[in-house]
Amino acid sequence: MNRIRTDILVLGSGGAGLLACLHAHKYAPDLSITVAVKGLLGKCGCTRMVQGGYNVALAPDDSVERHFMDTIEGGKWLNNQELAWTLVTGAQSCIRELENEHGCFFDRNPDGTIHQKAFAGQSFDRTVHKGDLTGIEIINRLAEQVWARNINRLEDHRAIEFIKSAGGDALAGVLMIDIRSGEIVLVQSKAVLLATGGGPTMYRYHTPSGDKSCDGMAMALRAGLVLRDMEMVQFHPTGLLAGPDTRMTGTVLEEGLRGAGGYLLGGDGERFMQNYDPSGERATRDIVSRAMYEEIRRGNTTPLGGLYIEMKHLGADKVRRMFKGMVQRCADCGFDLAAGRVEVIPTAHYMMGGVMFDGDCSTALPGLFAAGEDTGGVHGANRLGGNGVANSTVFGRIAGERMAKWAVSEGAFHDPDEGAIAEAMKQARLPLNRPPGDLERIRERLYEIMWDDVGIIRDAAGLARAQAALAALDAQLEATGVPRSSLAYNLSWHDWLNLKNLILVSRAVTVAAIAREDSRGAHYRSDFPLTDDLGRSAFTRARLQAGDIAIDTEAVQFTRVRPGESLLRT
Ligand SMILES: Cc1cc2nc3c(=O)[nH]c(=O)nc-3n(C[C@H](O)[C@H](O)[C@H](O)COP(=O)(O)OP(=O)(O)OC[C@H]3O[C@@H](n4cnc5c(N)ncnc54)[C@H](O)[C@@H]3O)c2cc1C
Repeated sequence: MNRIRTDILVLGSGGAGLLACLHAHKYAPDLSITVAVKGLLGKCGCTRMVQGGYNVALAPDDSVERHFMDTIEGGKWLNNQELAWTLVTGAQSCIRELENEHGCFFDRNPDGTIHQKAFAGQSFDRTVHKGDLTGIEIINRLAEQVWARNINRLEDHRAIEFIKSAGGDALAGVLMIDIRSGEIVLVQSKAVLLATGGGPTMYRYHTPSGDKSCDGMAMALRAGLVLRDMEMVQFHPTGLLAGPDTRMTGTVLEEGLRGAGGYLLGGDGERFMQNYDPSGERATRDIVSRAMYEEIRRGNTTPLGGLYIEMKHLGADKVRRMFKGMVQRCADCGFDLAAGRVEVIPTAHYMMGGVMFDGDCSTALPGLFAAGEDTGGVHGANRLGGNGVANSTVFGRIAGERMAKWAVSEGAFHDPDEGAIAEAMKQARLPLNRPPGDLERIRERLYEIMWDDVGIIRDAAGLARAQAALAALDAQLEATGVPRSSLAYNLSWHDWLNLKNLILVSRAVTVAAIAREDSRGAHYRSDFPLTDDLGRSAFTRARLQAGDIAIDTEAVQFTRVRPGESLLRT
């Protein structure tokens, strides 16, 4: 086993990870900083995939209070209000920093001010963007900045386990696999940032990048940390449905299509949204996804089992002009978005839940910090489109500065628990010592369980069925091995590890969904269709205890505003 030491270790190179690197370097340039990534720096994760844009209150008629209220109301009052406040206030300086210090350049109005567009669930047009390729602009510029500094890179390095100190009271480092060689690496560090970006890829249809398999959340559970709001999984209504054999299936067709007046049609060619909500296709993501799921359950489907989106009534030329990127992406998959119909299906997009953390990004484990989509509490029961990348960049910045200060003043290298290292290595190598089996069948089964019973519409019977099925699937995976002829780029081995983490986190989602006996935001129980008294809102807390997921709840503290009140002056 290779052992490396670094003052600061950042796991993940999305918006959270890269800004953390830059800020740690800014505040303590003499420290050694290392970023470890499952893929290549700047080429993986979801920040790169951001299409729509970045929410920030910039316009004179907008305000942080307004952005805050939209975030809290969108989150159905489950948010940690202090984290949400940090998000909306921090976004203002963060967007300036992205432009002025890191070289991002966002779309402009004719007068030179930053252009901001409308996004669902918001009372003001506040989404900053670079066409519909905003994430590429942000990640390319941030990656250039990281490359330009003496920040060490461990690319194709997959974190597998947190290793605590021999005394068990602090973090000593992170165990990883060097994917290129298969060698195990221990990176010892004074401060570690968890920024691996969640990602609900356990659902049959999903949007996040393929490198994401909830590794960070699973590692956090195994390290004894608490994850909150895990039942809150957001589905985006319009994922492309291009057939079972292409990774394009599930990728997002942006919300602006419905916003611009696009129609959703059943397999019978008729619009159906008016039967579900007076706002029709322009209703919020959760409402439209549920209506689409109902329609699919009724069998009113397209040949591939989804529904249609149709734009041609707006005029094909106008659609081509307004949605150039989308039209091209659909054409690549054989669909004519401008003049024809495109098959779509709701697709798992984002996990509002994650590791509990404080406003300075510290966690309950000394030395471990967390930021971005791995964390819970900022968004509550629903994330506003545009608040995701704001979340990862705002908190990535805070984490970088805090870790630098921690590493200088309080942090220390701890002797690792050697027994824990040996156990983690044994677990990671488990599939190499079992007869190779069919991982694809296990993945299909996971998709089926999560889509059918822990998806858009849930009930007690389905969730209980899923809980039992996930336990059985985990046992099946444990008995299934992978080829061991070479450990270098052994993708079957990594698939196995992905599935292991996805099943564990799926169990947390399921048990949290069983515990929440009301419907709000992204979580809908057909057996508890109403939302409980908002004034007595509580969030779920999941932890791993003796191999099982244990759940309790904690009351939301309305530190800034109570349900029924507003921060806005009327
Ligand atoms: C298609 C799509 C469109 C989106 N559009 C928008 C939008 O318009 N606006 C918006 O606000 N949000 C959007 N989002 C959400 C947004 O992308 C995320 O909220 C945000 O970018 C997450 O940032 P992050 O840094 O937490 O994670 P990511 O950017 O996903 O980065 C995670 C990093 O961790 C690495 N990693 C994962 N596992 C490991 C491991 N075991 N070891 C080491 N490294 C690991 C990954 O390789 C990656 O580098 C979109 C998401 C998708 C999928």
